[in-house]
Amino acid sequence: MIPPASTIGILGGGQLGRMLAIAAAKLGYHAHIYCPEKDCPAAEVAKFTTVAAYDDRTALKAFAKSVDVITYEFENIPVAALGAIAGKIKPDISILELCQHRVLEKQAVNRLGIATAPFVPVHSKKELLAAAKSLGLPAVLKTARMGYDGKGQTTLKSLSMIETAWKGINAAEAILESFITFRMEISVIVARDAKGTMACYCPVQNIHKNHILSETIAPASISPSLAKKAEKIARAIAEGLSLVGIMAVEMFVTQDDKLLVNELAPRPHNSGHWTIDACVTSQFEQTIRAVCGLPLGSTRRLCNARMINLIGDDIKDWQRYTAMPNAKLHLYGKKESRAGRKMGHVTFIY
Ligand code: AMP
Repeated sequence: MIPPASTIGILGGGQLGRMLAIAAAKLGYHAHIYCPEKDCPAAEVAKFTTVAAYDDRTALKAFAKSVDVITYEFENIPVAALGAIAGKIKPDISILELCQHRVLEKQAVNRLGIATAPFVPVHSKKELLAAAKSLGLPAVLKTARMGYDGKGQTTLKSLSMIETAWKGINAAEAILESFITFRMEISVIVARDAKGTMACYCPVQNIHKNHILSETIAPASISPSLAKKAEKIARAIAEGLSLVGIMAVEMFVTQDDKLLVNELAPRPHNSGHWTIDACVTSQFEQTIRAVCGLPLGSTRRLCNARMINLIGDDIKDWQRYTAMPNAKLHLYGKKESRAGRKMGHVTFIY
């Protein structure tokens, strides 16, 4: 067990790192943020900050030496540079590596007997044409790596789009997935400790706008039996990957109530922000507990919640939320607002 007063290293300095550092401080830990940008949102609330590139092995070694455990809030970190400090990192970097590659991630999920959208790995225009013919259209073409918030993906509606689509994603490795006309998108956040104990938050519904999460509704309005199935899937993945830490499992609910896993995130997730204001233990505290070897906290929902992201100019409305009795406003302290940038969120509790 890593006791309070120890230092938790966090790779990444965005809003997730900021909320992790706040949760760490509440339990009496210090946070040390490692981030390439100066004045990142997390640095403002952490005791220590290292400003260095993610592949700066010397800086990473010094960082690892100064902390008791390391976790991450950001997935696109080059894993090769983390090798020398891997022993201190939770979740294990093998999980990070898997989640950085859509094909490996989906194959791992399928190996556990869990369904995803049908997919084909693609490395060339020729392979893309063959994949489109075998899967049928419409289908979604995504880069295998570095994709988030809909970046690096395009929907193929006809074979005539293949040339432009392949050029457009500009990647050596990609994945073509069947287009799923889902009824709903949900996610389940699961935590697992080193002894194998697990704790799940209730499935929530996620609504995206322009491929970016706009809104999360907790709980998702699905039947209790489907909710149980979703939790079972999340637990099976956490168990199957020997997770120590937290993971969000994003799923599509199909028209006939089947669950297809879309994506895994081995870190706190935007769809879990509501847990700060509506659960006994927030997803951020749960991460700290899991990586430090404390008992996992209760995931009990104290009330229903709806979280909305404040994206870009939405931030201009911040004052309105401070006057609403059931609104909990969270601002990330980002100096500059840009289109598509997550500036804060509001959780409405009911
Ligand atoms: P992703 O980057 O895989 O999380 O995709 C971002 C969003 O695009 C998802 O949350 C869905 O709304 C949509 N999407 C991704 N894959 C598919 C698919 N195979 N079929 C339909 N919509 C998809």
